[in-house]
Amino acid sequence: MQLACSACDFTSPIRELVNLCPYCTSPLLVQYDFAPRPRIAAGRNDMWRYRDVLPEVADEEIVSLGEGVTPLLASRTRPGVYIKDESKNPTRSFKSRGMSAAVTMAKKLGARSLAAPTAGNAGAALAAYGARAGLPVFVAMPPDTPSSIVEECRGYGATVELIPGVITDAAKRVREYVAEHGGFDLATLREPYRVEGKKIMGYELLDDLGALPDVILYPTGGGTGLIGMWKAFDEMERLGWIDARRPRMFSVQSSGCAPVVRAFEQGLDRAPEWESPKTTAWGLRVPRALGDRLMLHALRTSNGGAIAVDEARIEDAAAALRVSEGIDAGPESGAAWLAYEELRARGAIGADESVVVFNTGANKYR
Ligand SMILES: [Zn+2]
Repeated sequence: MQLACSACDFTSPIRELVNLCPYCTSPLLVQYDFAPRPRIAAGRNDMWRYRDVLPEVADEEIVSLGEGVTPLLASRTRPGVYIKDESKNPTRSFKSRGMSAAVTMAKKLGARSLAAPTAGNAGAALAAYGARAGLPVFVAMPPDTPSSIVEECRGYGATVELIPGVITDAAKRVREYVAEHGGFDLATLREPYRVEGKKIMGYELLDDLGALPDVILYPTGGGTGLIGMWKAFDEMERLGWIDARRPRMFSVQSSGCAPVVRAFEQGLDRAPEWESPKTTAWGLRVPRALGDRLMLHALRTSNGGAIAVDEARIEDAAAALRVSEGIDAGPESGAAWLAYEELRARGAIGADESVVVFNTGANKYR
C-alpha cells in the first residue's frame, strides 16, 4: 500500500500527513497491492466493514459515527431505478464517509487540528468527525450558505468563518488559516483519504444488487463520489469480484453551475472555472474542482456523460422525489432525479436498464 500521484510517477509510503503531489500538485490516491480473493465477510455494521480495502488502521484508531451501509431502495414509481439513500449517514449526507476515513488517517498521522472549505455538508461532517476525534475544527464557507448548516457546524464546536465568494474563495482562506495557525487541510482531493471513504459506495452497490447497475447518476460538485466509485470498480476487478464491464457514469450538475458538463461537451481534459455560479443546490455550487481530470476520465471511459438540468426545476424535482418515494432528498438529488427523466427522454438510458440515482444528502437547507 502506498500513495501514488494521479497525474505523474510520484509514489510515497503512507507515513506522514500529505496534501497534493509535491512535484505536480495533483491529487494523491491510495494504491493497494490487491490480488484476487474472496468477498468481504459482513462484520461491523458501518463502512469499516470494508476495512480490508481501506488504509490499514487499528480498531482503536477508527473515527466512526456509524457511517455507510446505507439502504439501496427500489423506486416505487420508476421501474428499474434504485435510490442509494445517503441521507441515512450520521450527518445526513455522503460526506460522512469521506470524513470518517480522512479524520481517522489525519489523527493517526499526527494532525492536531483540522480545517476545510465547504459548500455546506462537508463542513458539517468534518465538524462532527473532528468532535468525535477530539480535534479542533476550522471551516470556511460562503456567506449565503444556509444558516441551518452554519449552526450545525457550530453545534459540533467548529470555528466557522463566512468568506465572501464561493467555495474556491473559502478554500484560499483555509490555506491561509492553516499556514498561520497550523492544522491539516482536508479540502476535497487535497488529501488522499476522503475519496477512500467515498469509494465504499461503489463496494456497497455490488453487495446491494449482487452486480453493478448499468447506469449511475451522481450529482456532482467536487466529484469525489464519482472518482471514488470509479476507483472502487478498478480495485474490485483486481480483487476478482467483477469483470471489465462498468456502469455508465453520469455527472449531474445545475444549469447555474456546470463546469464539468461544459468541459465534457467541449472534449476538454480539465474543467475551466465556471463564472458566477448560481444554484440553490449548494453541494453543486463548485465552480472549479481539483478532481476535474479524474472525473472527466471516468465519465468518458465508462461511456457515460454529463448533464446540466434546469436550475429552476431542481427544487420541484426534489420535492417530487420526497413525495413520491418518501425519501429525505436534498436539492442535489432533485437534480439527479430530473436528469434521469431527461436522459430517458433522450434515449440515453433504456427502459430495461438498471439505474442507481444517488440521494447524496438530506433536505437540510433552511
Ligand atoms: Zn504528481
